[in-house]
Amino acid sequence: METIDLISLRNYSRRTGQPTHPELLDARPLEHVNRIEIDEEHITIEFNEKTSRYYNTNEITHREWVHKYNDDPVFVAAIGRVIELARKHLKEMPENVACPPGCAECCSGYEPFVSKSDVQRIADHLGMSYEETLRRYVVERPSADGYHVGWLRKVGDDIADQCVFLMGSRSGRYYCGIYPARPNDCRDFTPIGCDDVDTSLPHKSSFKVGPAFQPKRRNGRRNGRRL
Ligand code: SF4
Ligand code: SF4
Repeated sequence: METIDLISLRNYSRRTGQPTHPELLDARPLEHVNRIEIDEEHITIEFNEKTSRYYNTNEITHREWVHKYNDDPVFVAAIGRVIELARKHLKEMPENVACPPGCAECCSGYEPFVSKSDVQRIADHLGMSYEETLRRYVVERPSADGYHVGWLRKVGDDIADQCVFLMGSRSGRYYCGIYPARPNDCRDFTPIGCDDVDTSLPHKSSFKVGPAFQPKRRNGRRNGRRL
């Protein structure tokens, strides 16, 4: 069961008198909605009770979310519309949304935003300090709300260049070199709508990634070898 904070949405609706726009809701948990019930006291949402959906090879787990109802009719109507969108999205989603193994086209031409916790996770993963990780791998542009500190660097200055952590350029079979620690922006990236997706591919892939990204050390060594 999950409880999601919808108070800010309700306040917006009350403050402006406008129907709440779906974009103001963190709709990620609604992407895999299976059944919705709205009564006088609750909105009850069940996730994937019977169906299984796949994002690459990861099966999305079953979840259930119950949220306490409030008496703002505009708010409830707005939630209802968001829920309908989520149901439509679920119905139209193919059983398997598979990226061709080694594709990673989207890791070029895309600049994932990073928060402080993203940078700290990457720093811990690489065995580096927060400050050094920020300096080496992040283009610093703090957002107005202070949440994002910038975006990941690319290997060059061109917008189409690859993310600095993308590996596999020799073999042409690409993979993320910091996959377990990748930014939330990358985790949330959805291939739905991408022209390169191949829904005929099997759920399970035998694609084997290579070694993880290793930062260049100051002594000129990487992976124990002199560069
Ligand atoms: S989302 Fe599209 S570009 Fe990115 S890896 Fe999947 S198929 Fe390739
Ligand atoms: S961090 Fe990994 S998943 Fe994210 S853009 Fe870079 S290579 Fe791709």
